[in-house]
Amino acid sequence: MSKLLNFANGFKRVVFPNVCVCCGREHTEQQRQICSFCLSDRFEDGNLQNERVSSDSLLPDGIVVQHALWEFDKGGDLQNLLHQLKYERLTTVGRDLGRALGRRVQEHPVIVDMLDEHQSVIVPVPLHYLKFRYRGFNQAFELAQGFQEIWEDVPICDIDDIIRRKNTRTQTGFSLEKRLKNMQKAFSVKNKTLIKNRLCVIIDDVFTTGATTFELADTLKKGGAGPAIILTVAQA
Ligand SMILES: [Zn+2]
Repeated sequence: MSKLLNFANGFKRVVFPNVCVCCGREHTEQQRQICSFCLSDRFEDGNLQNERVSSDSLLPDGIVVQHALWEFDKGGDLQNLLHQLKYERLTTVGRDLGRALGRRVQEHPVIVDMLDEHQSVIVPVPLHYLKFRYRGFNQAFELAQGFQEIWEDVPICDIDDIIRRKNTRTQTGFSLEKRLKNMQKAFSVKNKTLIKNRLCVIIDDVFTTGATTFELADTLKKGGAGPAIILTVAQA
């Protein structure tokens, strides 16, 4: 039987080789889209010093840490990867990246302490339902699910627990002031029991100015949540 299985797997590898979506090299990891090299060594680590400040702006009250896995590389492989995650529905890419983020957090003493001390909940940045319907999935939820494979005890909020009321267009090119204004009242908490006094682990693909995640954290705080941390794959 095992011979047959080996043969079947060998056959599968020849016909459908596991090719890394990032570098195009063949790899042996099953159920993965990104190879180990790309997950560990291809990109620049973000925020190595674990500083409390980011993108030259101080974190607003209530947000304890903002951390990104890697530095954003405009026009580079990481941007391409995130683009595939967002627009080509490569959900396994999201899982891979979410797991990588979860593992990184295990090395971040402040976040580990926070997660140990608090009851927590993972809050992927919600999409407006029109965008959700158009895209068919929310990339932040895929990241959150990968993250949860590492942090098994932390629940993820449901897709309708926290919603996005405003369908904002891309904010590229807007000043921070304009972005913040644009995002005002963009989110709404539908399930307050879920977040009550909990540490909210906000997860998104890219952190740019923080306009989106800061507004979400503020909405959660007003809804009765405890402190927040912001985790993203990339930091622009
Ligand atoms: Zn690769």
